[in-house]
Amino acid sequence: MATAHQEIDTEVCVVGGGPAGLVLALLMLRSGARVTVLERARAHEREARGEILQPGAQALLDELGVLAGARARGAQEHDRFRLFEGERMLLEADYRLLPAPYDHLLSLPRTHLLDELLAHCRRSPGFRYLPGRRVGGLVWRDGRIAGVTADGPDGRCTVRARAVVGADGRYSRVRRLAGIGAGRTEALHHVLLWCTLKAGGADAPPLREVRVFRTGDGPVVVYGSWPDRIHLGWTLPQHGHRALTALGADRVRERLARAVPPYATAIREQIRALGDLGLLDVFSARARRWVDDGLVLIGDAAHTHGPIAAQGITLAIQDAVVLHPVLSGALAAGDVGADRLAAFEGRRGPDVAAVVRMQTRQSRALLSGGAFATRVRPYLARALRHTPLHRRMLQRIAYGGPVIRVVDARVCGRP
Ligand SMILES: Cc1cc2nc3c(=O)[nH]c(=O)nc-3n(C[C@H](O)[C@H](O)[C@H](O)COP(=O)(O)OP(=O)(O)OC[C@H]3O[C@@H](n4cnc5c(N)ncnc54)[C@H](O)[C@@H]3O)c2cc1C
Repeated sequence: MATAHQEIDTEVCVVGGGPAGLVLALLMLRSGARVTVLERARAHEREARGEILQPGAQALLDELGVLAGARARGAQEHDRFRLFEGERMLLEADYRLLPAPYDHLLSLPRTHLLDELLAHCRRSPGFRYLPGRRVGGLVWRDGRIAGVTADGPDGRCTVRARAVVGADGRYSRVRRLAGIGAGRTEALHHVLLWCTLKAGGADAPPLREVRVFRTGDGPVVVYGSWPDRIHLGWTLPQHGHRALTALGADRVRERLARAVPPYATAIREQIRALGDLGLLDVFSARARRWVDDGLVLIGDAAHTHGPIAAQGITLAIQDAVVLHPVLSGALAAGDVGADRLAAFEGRRGPDVAAVVRMQTRQSRALLSGGAFATRVRPYLARALRHTPLHRRMLQRIAYGGPVIRVVDARVCGRP
């Protein structure tokens, strides 16, 4: 049966309803723009992912009036991040040293964040949300990008827009369609064996912290999540996981249980087959450019981040907040050309690069062994703990760079 071809006209077309896309949509709606968001996933089909929010993300979501509602759906606070080798603690970042109220990491399930953002977007009459639509083409007009085409349950649709925002994540289709290179770096390329366990049991203390356990194979990150769950992610060198999984479920389970002693019982009871462990490719990348005529890339589509140091969601939200006045100004001036939009990349590029350098250092600290990593660095870290330098480093991990504030919608004006 032939399906109708839907045609939609909007001002801003956002591809991807993840943290970057929905925060940008909300800000542009509040500035009076008409916004259409196309999201590949249908409701409640969204993939499971890391969910740790740094204080920088919490502060911005609070400013947007979204944090309290998202937290009320269920969340868990973590006071600190600690690196262990067996039972021995090597390094610690204590978030309680930061000023309240953002003196913790927050484990917030992705659906709670996205559903709350969507609820706020839906209060604006100019909002249109199209779930289950996979963008597969760009609309070009006079040599510039002027919309997208997407396939969904009701057939194909064309969305024409004054500006397109690619917020479609690390494998961004929009980026590829625009002919922009992903800029993948191999330095942080790993695989992650990932599972969620039910918390509880005699040997599992309540987790108010994010823990990383160093193993000979690769570090294992463990943290508690709402409600009564433990997320566990084992970072392994690219291809290294094949040798490991070839050992079979029993031996993998035993290695994991020995590497993470406090959760050994939960691991032995709940991981029954290799299929209980999901496999994810993790890498970092920086797109060759973030703008084109009529197009901006934000979040993971522009610069991709793995789970190390839990920075990706914070950076994605910050991108949206920084892009908001740039895009509003461009629409108001009737000029969404690459030269004007380049102000966004100019402002964000150096901050994102600084966070990537920090993630690379942290990755090395987690992955490296030897006397320096196990004896000297922990000694230095303990000696520095009560110094201003330690607080400055913590501040940087928590906020990622200079403080970013939401620009008042009235200042941006109606595009
Ligand atoms: C295993 C893992 C764990 C992580 N843990 C953390 C963590 O704890 N804390 C942290 O801060 N960061 C973490 N990160 C990084 C973080 O997930 C990303 O940086 C962040 O989600 C980026 O947000 P985004 O909105 O740019 O993209 P995404 O969250 O990837 O959202 C993109 C959206 O676009 C949609 N989409 C994709 N293609 C199309 C298409 N063709 N058409 C329509 N829609 C499309 C997708 O369905 C998705 O909803 C982790 C990453 C990985 C891989």
